[in-house]
Amino acid sequence: MATFVIVGAGLAGAKAVETLRAEGFDGTVVLVGAEPERPYERPPLSKGLLLGTADRDSAFVHKPDWYGENGVLLRTGTVVTSLDRDRREVTLSGGEGLGYDRLLLATGARPRMLPVPGAELGGVLYLRTLADSERIAEAAVPGARLVIIGAGWIGLEVAAAARHRGATVDVGETADLPLQRILGDRIATVFADLHREHGVTFHFGTQVARLSGDDRVRQVELADGTVLPADAVLVAVGAQPNTELAERAGLAVDNGILVDAGLRTSDPCIYAAGDVANVAHPLLGTRIRVEHWANALNGGPAAAMAMLGREVSYDRLPYFYTDQYDLGMEYSGYAPPGTTDRIVVRGDLAKREFIVFWKDGARVVAGMNVNVWDVADPIRAIIDASLTGQSIDHAALADPAVPLDELLP
Ligand SMILES: Cc1cc2nc3c(=O)[nH]c(=O)nc-3n(C[C@H](O)[C@H](O)[C@H](O)COP(=O)(O)OP(=O)(O)OC[C@H]3O[C@@H](n4cnc5c(N)ncnc54)[C@H](O)[C@@H]3O)c2cc1C
Repeated sequence: MATFVIVGAGLAGAKAVETLRAEGFDGTVVLVGAEPERPYERPPLSKGLLLGTADRDSAFVHKPDWYGENGVLLRTGTVVTSLDRDRREVTLSGGEGLGYDRLLLATGARPRMLPVPGAELGGVLYLRTLADSERIAEAAVPGARLVIIGAGWIGLEVAAAARHRGATVDVGETADLPLQRILGDRIATVFADLHREHGVTFHFGTQVARLSGDDRVRQVELADGTVLPADAVLVAVGAQPNTELAERAGLAVDNGILVDAGLRTSDPCIYAAGDVANVAHPLLGTRIRVEHWANALNGGPAAAMAMLGREVSYDRLPYFYTDQYDLGMEYSGYAPPGTTDRIVVRGDLAKREFIVFWKDGARVVAGMNVNVWDVADPIRAIIDASLTGQSIDHAALADPAVPLDELLP
């Protein structure tokens, strides 16, 4: 009987094993995860769990019994330490070997560390796991001074939650605006204004020089000389893919594990999905590594189908959402560097109720809806149509009087 091994018990891994069983695979399925928990979703870690609107149990992908009931051998608290492709075997942290017929690498990503003096002090926090989220909740109490390094999605979501919890929040960022590289100046300004209105203080255009304190961090010194008192520091300067296992095994790796549109690595028996996979995207015509929930949700099942020998072309557009204070937004597509300021706005930026599209020449490559709902499907359809060569009326994109559906050729 065939054995399929999945390394990484995050969302991509959990959804892959679910698909294997749903598709009737009756071989052995082993899901190996380094964390002590069964698979859970990470978006609530910076939102509902910190805001107190969601409980811990709601984050898990499956009920505790699901794995046993579905014949999935879940090995939590277990690291896959090596991969022998010739023998088709992985080694687990206890030394045990585990043979496979097909292997899925869904090892995700981990936070980038801050390479400055003092980064090892107590009270310097990162956010990736449930335990990290619980540590941040303990730190972000009324009156506590939280300094956040990095004004990306996670930094901003934690800033919003920490303000809600009554902490004071300073955010340091090397760029001139939050999310500037992804959204461009005009849309990034919407997020800067939103946070300022909620009492967040930004420090743009400067780096962290050092963290200092005694037994724990007490202050953050910025390169421009600013000194920020701190009871805790959250480092949120991005993530890096967990590719070491693949690299040591000689798989092709370049900013993630390289896979084709069928999520197959340079070894035909090994697949990769989720945050760790750098996919040759058939629609975008470029390689892309996506660190978003929907990519784990859909990429895990797509990899499972490919492992079962089905024809797979993983052509879903990247999709992302965030909630900060009373702003909710969804983003579909991918605006490559150099296009982030080429936008068409439909609606009112000042009121924070708008849709924005990003253009790359004649192509509409990305779209985002802010506090406008039930439009993600037509936005995606417009981008899909544009990427497949159909022409979209750019003037009508900006006109709220023209329903989005009517923009499709
Ligand atoms: C705080 C936070 C908030 C987020 N919010 C959003 C959001 O609002 N919207 C959105 O679209 N996305 C969001 N994301 C991103 C989203 O959660 C990720 O894209 C998603 O978790 C990726 O899933 P994954 O299964 O690929 O990887 P992961 O979730 O990283 O899971 C991989 C697992 O593999 C394990 N592992 C790694 N190496 C090994 C090994 N050698 N052996 C065994 N196990 C191993 C890891 O410990 C980990 O448990 C958020 C992420 C974080 C951290």
